[in-house]
Amino acid sequence: MTRVVINGANGRMGQTLVACATRNPELELVGQVDIGDNLAEVVSKADAVVDFSSHEVTSDVAALCAEHGTALVIGTTGHSVAERDAVLHHRQTIPMVWASNFSTGVNALFWLTRKAAEILGADFDLEVVEMHHRMKKDAPSGTAKTLASILAEYRQEKSEDIVRHGREGLVGERTQQEIGVHSLRGGDVVGDHTVIFAGMGERVELSHKAASRETFANGALRAAQWAVAQSPGLYDMNDVLGLR
Ligand code: NAD
Repeated sequence: MTRVVINGANGRMGQTLVACATRNPELELVGQVDIGDNLAEVVSKADAVVDFSSHEVTSDVAALCAEHGTALVIGTTGHSVAERDAVLHHRQTIPMVWASNFSTGVNALFWLTRKAAEILGADFDLEVVEMHHRMKKDAPSGTAKTLASILAEYRQEKSEDIVRHGREGLVGERTQQEIGVHSLRGGDVVGDHTVIFAGMGERVELSHKAASRETFANGALRAAQWAVAQSPGLYDMNDVLGLR
């Protein structure tokens, strides 16, 4: 039995995590924390904290977990480089699973994207398109950033050097190196991602569409169960799913 606390429990993901954790006989939900609650009061009762709250608080959550030797699963996205570094500092003390997307299907998309880039080579132009519900606060999505970084890595570049966020006006011809990333927002879309490989005379598109937040929640809870048995360090869903 793994004892978990959900941080950000009143949110869209938080509510789904609470429902999935309650149904899972291998988990005991020992805390539901949101704004106004004190995570410090429940963290010592837990084997793992699952955080889907806000990028601003992840480093404080990680520090608290490190103090109590509690594993941490991070689903929150939108961190600045400084925020990310502050969180990563704690990987020496506790096991952390950090994934921009916990769905098995999206992790298959990550793998397929890498493979397609290898097969198709430099002649294909690379574009990533994502769509999410109207309430999403950060853009592009963490998953789109991961997809862009997989493509950039294949081209032996840093994604911050070659990603182009949208186009407007007389932007000139597309360069061969750039990776276009485009964010659509509207309605109740849970999360769509498409990677486009556009060549001369043909085009390959790899798409994933999430219809339910349960796919992310169950992946994150599986990560929590896995994390409690690991040594301190930084892990992602490839580790949890045994894809390394
Ligand atoms: P949401 O706005 O519905 O929920 C966020 C919740 O966090 C809210 O209830 C808010 O009150 C709470 N919160 C904010 N600050 C807090 C604090 N200091 N302490 C405790 N709780 C706090 O958002 P959402 O759609 O549930 O998404 C949450 C995060 O998860 C976002 O960053 C989103 O991008 C990310 N997300 C990740 C995945 C994944 O698979 N990794 C999937 C979906 C969403």
